[in-house]
Amino acid sequence: MKKLVAVLLAGAMCFSLAACGSGTADETVTSDAEVAVEETTDETEAAEDETAAADTEEAADTAAAGEVTTATEGVLTMGTNAAFPPYEYYEGDAIVGIDAEVAQAIAEKLGLTLEIVDMDFGSIITAVQTGKVDVGIAGMTVEPDRLENVDFTDSYATGVQVVIVPEGSEIASVDDLEGKLIGVQESTTGWQYCTEDYGDENVIPYPNGATAVQALMDGKVDCVVIDQQPALSFVEANEGLTILDTEYAVEDYAIAVSKDNTGLKDAINTALNELIEDGTVQGILDKYISAE
Ligand code: GLN
Repeated sequence: MKKLVAVLLAGAMCFSLAACGSGTADETVTSDAEVAVEETTDETEAAEDETAAADTEEAADTAAAGEVTTATEGVLTMGTNAAFPPYEYYEGDAIVGIDAEVAQAIAEKLGLTLEIVDMDFGSIITAVQTGKVDVGIAGMTVEPDRLENVDFTDSYATGVQVVIVPEGSEIASVDDLEGKLIGVQESTTGWQYCTEDYGDENVIPYPNGATAVQALMDGKVDCVVIDQQPALSFVEANEGLTILDTEYAVEDYAIAVSKDNTGLKDAINTALNELIEDGTVQGILDKYISAE
């Protein structure tokens, strides 16, 4: 239902990406991401060795591989916001998580080296548009306003917007959010939906999910609307919080690619669909998301 609302309201929303910070100040280039990814997976390590050996073969298997153009030759530069566990987060100095592993698997299929650049979530689309990064992979929802600025690949995961409340809150379902103060992460779909549904005056944007959850802990907001998987991580890390049973919105996560680089988008789709069909993507999701 939310998706439909989002579609109908497309264009009415001004997604002020530029206003959300240039993202240059706190950017970190993680060149050792591959190493980190390898460190975290035993199975993937074995798979990677195999893949490395079969690299040329793999690349030849993947239509369009070898013809792709990227910002830096031989490198797939990924923009993300590494404060979104389990999709992307820091383990020491390295960015790890579902997106880092999916990106690594895609890069290998395309014969490219993965480099991850950490930036504000709100800067990612602009970074893709301007060619500063080749792809935005950040648990990013396919959304009409974004589609005006970038292309998206096929979807690789489902996202769900949920509501975090303090235990014992009088908010029992999304129907109780009317008139409440809602904390969100700026530039996200949760922020967009909440301002549309409950008005700007009732929604407080925070730089990232962790700061929104801290505001909830401090009693500055009544609830936080955010994607389910980071919500589970935040609730696990902070006592006294719970997630409402009702889902606020169900979404598709995909990879943002420049509208000027359809060759790269097509090559990623080919690689991604191979990785979906052979179970690699599901394996990565299962590793980070426990079935409940
Ligand atoms: N899925 C949400 C969105 O695309 C949040 C993503 C994120 O915060 N990394 O807006």
